[in-house]
Amino acid sequence: AKRSGGNSFRFYAQEMQAASQQRMELESDMRQALESDQFQLYFQPQVRMDSSHVQSAEVLLRWNHPERGLVPPGVFIPIAEESLLIADIDAWVLRAVCKQIRQWLNAGIEPVRLAINISAAQFQNPRFVSLVKLSLSQFELSADHIELEITEGALIDNLEHARQVLNELGEFGVRLAIDDFGTGYCSLAYLKTMPIDKLKIDQSFIRDITLSARDAAIVEVILQLSKQLGLRCIAEGVETQEELDWLVEKGCEVFQGYFFHRPMPLADFAKLLSSQVSI
Ligand code: C2E
Ligand code: CA
Ligand code: CA
Ligand code: CA
Repeated sequence: AKRSGGNSFRFYAQEMQAASQQRMELESDMRQALESDQFQLYFQPQVRMDSSHVQSAEVLLRWNHPERGLVPPGVFIPIAEESLLIADIDAWVLRAVCKQIRQWLNAGIEPVRLAINISAAQFQNPRFVSLVKLSLSQFELSADHIELEITEGALIDNLEHARQVLNELGEFGVRLAIDDFGTGYCSLAYLKTMPIDKLKIDQSFIRDITLSARDAAIVEVILQLSKQLGLRCIAEGVETQEELDWLVEKGCEVFQGYFFHRPMPLADFAKLLSSQVSI
């Protein structure tokens, strides 16, 4: 028994080593990727029910790895978060988004507001606010072209810092959305004092909305809360007509999910934008 315990420990240690090796490989590949255009922006439209018009879109990062193929963000973002590489990636996304909006404007395409995911590490970065301002001014954009998505965790980590950052961004005119609302530390106190525009109801609550009375109750409360506080609200992860009907009945007005559109590459999204203009 002792012996096999030793073996299984050795086996475990080998597995750990393999995992950490893979992690290190991905990490150095990511540095490479930033320099050689392997990252790509995808766009998932956010739709208003009354017009079925695309009113905005969330930018979602994709990594085209030369050997591994498409690596999903669920795999590389957590690794990037541990290595602090995430701040460089977020900065790259911010700049790429601003550049894209500028190109559309120059081509006479009316862009919609683009929502950008900001990691907790980037949010803590003391140069974050100036990075946002710099990216916008470099491409001569007003602040209302973008929206930043921040998770509750990033806010709660350091409330004083968060308040200051959000105030500065808010005064500058950048809109702020709370991502994955309801799944974090769930302190509601910050909603009272911070300049937040929008709550994104997490898809884990939407998924079983028509099956689970509990999930339905949670979503209803979030919708009421945002209404009472004068915040905008969006449901993410809407996949079926039934989910949509339920949400519409409860007063939700803006939606994001596979039922409407999957995240799409630039060419498809540009086509969608141009077709909207001609309506
Ligand atoms: P998130 O911010 O919560 O993004 C929503 C995720 O839900 C996206 O996954 C999107 O493709 C997916 N989704 C949208 N509609 C549906 C639906 O109807 N059903 C289901 N099952 N899923 C849906 P994705 O693109 O794989 O991204 C995963 C996570 O990676 C994101 O979660 C976000 O936390 C992170 N991420 C993606 N891009 C970036 C980025 O540029 N910067 C940072 N910091 N994080 C990013
Ligand atoms: Ca998001
Ligand atoms: Ca989310
Ligand atoms: Ca569902």
